[in-house]
Amino acid sequence: MNTLPPPDLSDAALLRVVSGIRPCRRGGIRLEAEQMTLGARSKTVIHNYGQGGCGVTLSLGCAQLAADLVLGATADPEGAAVPTTPIAILGAGVTALTTARELLSRGHRVTCYATKFATDTTSNIAGAIWLPTGVEFGDRPDKVARFHDILRRSHAAFGRLDLQQWGVQRLPVYEPAYAPHEDRFFDNGTLEPPQLLERLPVAGPPRAGRVFYTSFIHTPRFLAALAADITARGGAFIERTFTAREQLASLNEPVLVNCLALGSRELFDDHSMYPARGVLVHMKPQPLGYIVHDGYKYMFPRHDALVLGGCFDADVEDPTPPEHTVREILDHHRRFFAV
Ligand SMILES: Cc1cc2nc3c(=O)[nH]c(=O)nc-3n(C[C@H](O)[C@H](O)[C@H](O)COP(=O)(O)OP(=O)(O)OC[C@H]3O[C@@H](n4cnc5c(N)ncnc54)[C@H](O)[C@@H]3O)c2cc1C
Repeated sequence: MNTLPPPDLSDAALLRVVSGIRPCRRGGIRLEAEQMTLGARSKTVIHNYGQGGCGVTLSLGCAQLAADLVLGATADPEGAAVPTTPIAILGAGVTALTTARELLSRGHRVTCYATKFATDTTSNIAGAIWLPTGVEFGDRPDKVARFHDILRRSHAAFGRLDLQQWGVQRLPVYEPAYAPHEDRFFDNGTLEPPQLLERLPVAGPPRAGRVFYTSFIHTPRFLAALAADITARGGAFIERTFTAREQLASLNEPVLVNCLALGSRELFDDHSMYPARGVLVHMKPQPLGYIVHDGYKYMFPRHDALVLGGCFDADVEDPTPPEHTVREILDHHRRFFAV
């Protein structure tokens, strides 16, 4: 029996098409400290980038580990924290903003330098479902173990945020039985494994499937709340575009946290980075209270749009959404829910 309200996917409900470029990295995310000579000055750079298709999911966990690395770089000789050290955050997407907030909560002074801020970044395009998809867990056992640690930290931290203040909501996710399933998304102490259902309670032909529960992050609200919280705690935002690494020498802060995502490829010569385009169709907002997920074909009830995904076009940097992809997304969802 279909107990859940069906979506309106008519032409009249169509709002817009958006696309974004995921900052993917071969070998997994880069989260480490590096000592660099920039001009005549030595600075510590903490790298925090390469979150690929799940940067929102990972953000709060990565922020904690990045802040621990900052502590390592700024502690006094006895190992005690020197929280007054000013820190420069490079970037202002979800990775940068969550790191900035974590550092402010530990007593640091923080300034974010970026070309684009919060709701103008790729982070604002993300749905976002809390699920570690579209990322390499790591190319070594220690990196994989650390990745699971990040997931556990992030999952716990998102679980503490509420819808009203942060735009984070717990939702059921329905998957048809034929959709790809990965045990490693569930066997790490974060999400409860899916339960099998003889019939999905969504509109459309009778279909077996599964359901699991996770956080859904209304990214425009989450990013706006982060930016407001950073400002309220005394953090600053400065517009700056870096076209060469030497320009970082002009920053007064002795410690920089690099959250430049794909910008790290050029600025830090990291050729493990590669782009992966995602295209989304926004329908008029519909508070359906559930997610449908079938790999990169998904439906998210975001507060500002019902988001229909999608695709993962690896090595594509051009954000222009191809006509045929938009048609394929619409046709897929209309077929799925057709009665
Ligand atoms: C279609 C789509 C759907 C997605 N869905 C999900 C999802 O459901 N769940 C999920 O967890 N994730 C999802 N993601 C992935 C998520 O959006 C990214 O992993 C995340 O946004 C990366 O955040 P970031 O802060 O590292 O990078 P960005 O948001 O790209 O921010 C990078 C920042 O660096 C700045 N910058 C870069 N280069 C320079 C430079 N040279 N000088 C100055 N500033 C610079 C930019 O201006 C920006 O402020 C999705 C992505 C896409 C495209």
